[in-house]
Amino acid sequence: MRSRIVIVGGGFAGAGVARRLERLVPDADVRLVCPDDHSLYLPLLPQVAAGVLPARAATVSLSRRLRRTRLVPGRAVGVDPAARRVVVETIDGRREVLGYDRLVLAPGSVTKVVDIPGLREFGRGMKTLAEAALLGDHVLGQLELAAATTDPAERERRCRFVVVGGGYAGVETAANLQLMTASVAGRIRGLDPALVRWHVVQHAAELMPGLGTRLSEDTHRVLVGRGIRVDLGTGLTVVDDTSVTLSDGRRLETATVVWTAGVAPSPLMSHLGLPTSHGALVVGADLAVPGRPEITALGDAASVPDLVTGGDATCPPTAQHATRQAPVAAANVAASLAGRPTTPYRHHDLGLVVDLGGADAVAKPLGIGLAGLPAQVVTRGYHLWALRAPGAMARVATNWALHGVGGSSSVRLGLTTGSGGLVELEHLDDYLSAEQAGAAAGAVP
Ligand SMILES: Cc1cc2nc3c(=O)[nH]c(=O)nc-3n(C[C@H](O)[C@H](O)[C@H](O)COP(=O)(O)OP(=O)(O)OC[C@H]3O[C@@H](n4cnc5c(N)ncnc54)[C@H](O)[C@@H]3O)c2cc1C
Repeated sequence: MRSRIVIVGGGFAGAGVARRLERLVPDADVRLVCPDDHSLYLPLLPQVAAGVLPARAATVSLSRRLRRTRLVPGRAVGVDPAARRVVVETIDGRREVLGYDRLVLAPGSVTKVVDIPGLREFGRGMKTLAEAALLGDHVLGQLELAAATTDPAERERRCRFVVVGGGYAGVETAANLQLMTASVAGRIRGLDPALVRWHVVQHAAELMPGLGTRLSEDTHRVLVGRGIRVDLGTGLTVVDDTSVTLSDGRRLETATVVWTAGVAPSPLMSHLGLPTSHGALVVGADLAVPGRPEITALGDAASVPDLVTGGDATCPPTAQHATRQAPVAAANVAASLAGRPTTPYRHHDLGLVVDLGGADAVAKPLGIGLAGLPAQVVTRGYHLWALRAPGAMARVATNWALHGVGGSSSVRLGLTTGSGGLVELEHLDDYLSAEQAGAAAGAVP
């Protein structure tokens, strides 16, 4: 009988595993469960929001990348590990059950929502294509509404944008969107561009602490030089529909709060009845769940020992690790089916790249700190290489060139009527426990 392999998640981790398995176990029945028909390259989302890239440029088509894998368009909402079954909610709302001999879990992460009053209702995330496109539309809509109102207080509120979180996602989001609003505000009649204010609120004492003090200061300088206010050592305490309150007691009137202060593993992982660490499924160095060799997990959703750092360290949730874990996971699934020994995942960090828009960037490839144009060349070269698909690389490079020559052509797509809330867009509340999954699987005809 053909081995049944179910992969959950079509990001760079899950799709990478499927691609390898097609070669390593050509006779297996491989199914990839994913709500989208593409892998999303998340590091480009801030540029999608800012209109530098069209939404599709940040994606790689799964049906083009994969040849033999069967795509199941839906989300895995529960797993019954004892019965080896996955409950899938298809994109048209039906329930389907998939049995497996091997399960690969790579559903990535979601925005980490902490217990701050109003955050779930009014915070916007930056984790999905829909969130990025909606945020871009929302920001452009605020500028238009500000120009249309005769109330000076409302105009000021709509022109203030608050990004909470000073990691790479928050910094890139604020930097790229600030360039967009600077360019667009000057074209809107009746709007004084000087009214547009961006704030970055960061709990830690510096921006992007992982990059080191020098690059963190370089980033700070670029942001402040563009008029972005950076509040370090400051948190968010309350959000409502017209304002945020910060930990130093200040209340800022705003209609836009982007929450990028951390990611949490997919909620699916804490519904499996298996050990997790900070919400991520605990796996061994070979990416298999201890005591459950038929279940493998990788990417942002897995707590993978970092053998290079040693001790209790685990791999950080980065695209770099997700991409590099994929071939190891695929090889180990193939090895376990063939009864061969598995191999551990071990990888040196290649560093981080941060695109601040225009010619500004900071990067730390292989531990060498770069800023300005050299960093931007490294950053964009890295993103093109990481896309791994010639068509996607060409689309991104062409759009960068067009944007470089023609500037921002940002227009609103008419998406602002959606709620834009991260709880709904990231499906934070939609999962079943292992027992509920077992009952749901039994109920599906
Ligand atoms: C704005 C931003 C900028 C970033 N910049 C960088 C950077 O510069 N460098 C870097 O290394 N990392 C960066 N990252 C982090 C990086 O994008 C992630 O670490 C990486 O995408 C993780 O890959 P993954 O495959 O584990 O998860 P994801 O890429 O999140 O993919 C998960 C996949 O699973 C699917 N899925 C989710 N839930 C389910 C379910 N229940 N059932 C089925 N499918 C499901 C999703 O639709 C998606 O296809 C950035 C992240 C963000 C948000």
